[in-house]
Formats: sequence, structure tokens, C-alpha cells
Amino acid sequence: MVRVGLAMLQGARHEHAEALRAASSQLHQEIEIVELRRAIEVDEHLDCLILPGGESTAMRKASQSESLLSALYSWMEQHPQRPVLGTCAGAILLANPSDTQSPFLRAGISRNAWGRQRDSFEAEVEVSLDIPSGGQISAKVAARDRFNHQPLPVGDAPSLDNNSSFHGVFIRAPRFEQSSIECTPVATLGEEIVGVLDGSRLALTFHPELTGDYRFHRWLIHQANAAQ
Ligand code: GLN
Repeated sequence: MVRVGLAMLQGARHEHAEALRAASSQLHQEIEIVELRRAIEVDEHLDCLILPGGESTAMRKASQSESLLSALYSWMEQHPQRPVLGTCAGAILLANPSDTQSPFLRAGISRNAWGRQRDSFEAEVEVSLDIPSGGQISAKVAARDRFNHQPLPVGDAPSLDNNSSFHGVFIRAPRFEQSSIECTPVATLGEEIVGVLDGSRLALTFHPELTGDYRFHRWLIHQANAAQ
């Protein structure tokens, strides 16, 4: 059993839960999704963590009353080998935790650096990351969601091909400051690095949970299992 902590501060957290369920089914690996709202819920039993995308300022504000973010940062410091996936605003929270907390990524990041909301875009991203493949899942798992969210179509069936390009959804996305990157690039959009791996921390400036391609969620579950 892999216990996945999901920060429920704000943003695309329910979509991550759906993507995790689909990836768990592809890998035939049982998971428990632990929805994190309060510091007290962050404990040593979590095997890995997702920091979703959304709005990082809103997340920092939402965190104030229950101190969730500082608990998550302490957990990351205490368990440096346990994998973390930060997407979009989640990547910002990894790279720029707070004034007093050292960064969890050796890469600088600039918020909203592609432009305004209307400059959001979708584009094919090349991925270079060791990701387990898994069995095919039923379309029902990929399509359903209790909030009526529908993953973006990525072909007839959810992709299991780790070598094909990844459909990147960039929503008022941040950009890594390219010359500052001192960790491993794992996703590129043309010449630009849009995903990095620093030890066990994977940060993407796009939203993998909004597609039916669960590669990065498979990576997280697999890494968490391996680190147990
Ligand atoms: N623009 C957001 C921020 O600065 C990030 C966008 C996203 O997560 N899709 O936090």
C-alpha cells in the first residue's frame, strides 16, 4: 500500500486524485489518497506527496490558518528520499517556499512568465524520465469523476507509451529561469525546460492531471513504493 498525501489547499486537487486512481489501476498498485488540510494530518506514514497547481498566492493564504505548508516543508526536510510531485503552482511552492525556508529545487522559477490567463496554451512536451509502464485500464476509470471533470482526450485509450510526447496544458504557467537550473531536466518544450527532477522532487510547469496520460502519477506511485 502506498499512501499518497495530496495538499488540498486550492486548485486542481480533485483532478490529481482521479489521476492517481487511474495510475494506481494501471500499475496494479494499491494506494490510499490522504487529503491534507491541516498540519496535524501530515505524518511520517505518508509515502509521497502532491502539491497541485492553482494559484500559489491563494494557496499560501489558505495555508495560514492551519499551517499546512510549513508542515509539508518540514515533512520534506525529514524525508528527503520520499517523492514529491509539484505541478505549476506546486512547482512554485517547491522553488520558492517562503522567505525563511530554503528552496526544495535547484532551479529558479518566475510566476506568470508566459503572460496573462489568455496566453495559456497547450503544446506537446518531450519527456525524459524513468517511468514504469502498466496495464491498460478501462475507459471508465479514465473518464469518470465525481465532479464531472473530464480528462482531455489523448487518443482512444489512456497512454501507456512513455516515449511519446506528453500533452502539456500550460495555464498561466510559471517558467523555470533556464540559466539557473542545476538539477535534471525531464520535460522540454522545444529548447525550453518545463520539468525538472531534483533528487526525489519532480516539478512541472504544466498540468498532467488534466489529461488522460498518467505517466507522472505512475512515476510518483512507483518511486514511493521503491522508497518504502
Ligand atoms: N499563475 C499561478 C501562480 O502564480 C500558477 C498557475 C497554475 O498553477 N496553473 O501561482
